[in-house]
Amino acid sequence: MKKLLLSSFLLPVSFIALSGCSNNSAKESSKYNTEAIHQVSLLQGLMLGDYYGSVTVKELKSMGNTGIGTFNSLNGELILIDGICYRANESLELEVVSDDETVPFADVTFLDNDLSYELNGLNSIEELKSTLDSKVKELGTNRFYMIRIDGLFDEIYFRSEKKQSLPYKPLNEVLKTDQTFKTMTNTNGSIVGLYTPNYMSDLNAVGWHFHFVTEDRRSGGHVLNADLGECNITWDYTDSFNMYLPNGEFFNTLDLTVDQDEAIKEVEQGN
Ligand SMILES: [Zn+2]
Repeated sequence: MKKLLLSSFLLPVSFIALSGCSNNSAKESSKYNTEAIHQVSLLQGLMLGDYYGSVTVKELKSMGNTGIGTFNSLNGELILIDGICYRANESLELEVVSDDETVPFADVTFLDNDLSYELNGLNSIEELKSTLDSKVKELGTNRFYMIRIDGLFDEIYFRSEKKQSLPYKPLNEVLKTDQTFKTMTNTNGSIVGLYTPNYMSDLNAVGWHFHFVTEDRRSGGHVLNADLGECNITWDYTDSFNMYLPNGEFFNTLDLTVDQDEAIKEVEQGN
């Protein structure tokens, strides 16, 4: 596995993490910058059908304990939480994924509690996003945020997808036929969410991207709608970004000059 460190840049830091101690051994022994977002490949590659895993789950877990992504052959939605890597399979059930599986796309970090408060009375994903966006305006729109929301969800609607076989089709084509959905009511669980700033629009979906797991870790997926009961949110402010290119034959011949903004919106919203 060859990886290329594309960019590692620091944005001006105007604050200090209030409490950065999660005291876990994966963080202490990590060879990576534990304060950074680590991104495997780019969403625009995944969009074009690059479902070839390039980083192992074991390596991904040394880059962070919290994050989102997918697996080789688009085999379900990836949720990394509390240092455990889960797959939400096509039946929207969670499985713990073995260390030797590979990942074509993911964003992970070690979650620090830079800010935490109660979050109540948000009845849709639009309300959730706009509430979080207002907070981002206060905190600064030009850095990354990893968030985690824990608590009761009055209703949560999420999806996953079926594992693909070769030759791979573009993601928006796959989701027209191979997407699966689930709604749960009155369930305790956690959302892991990533905020990507606007200037990263060629590398990822800008704004918010949420994955969900139930508290019993039996169900989960990519969140399409959420009605929050009593929840608590934790924010990790992240001023550094590393990206690892797959450097595979397929990746190296992809035409990444194509504007994919509309296709990405479709895919993110599950339309
Ligand atoms: Zn997703």
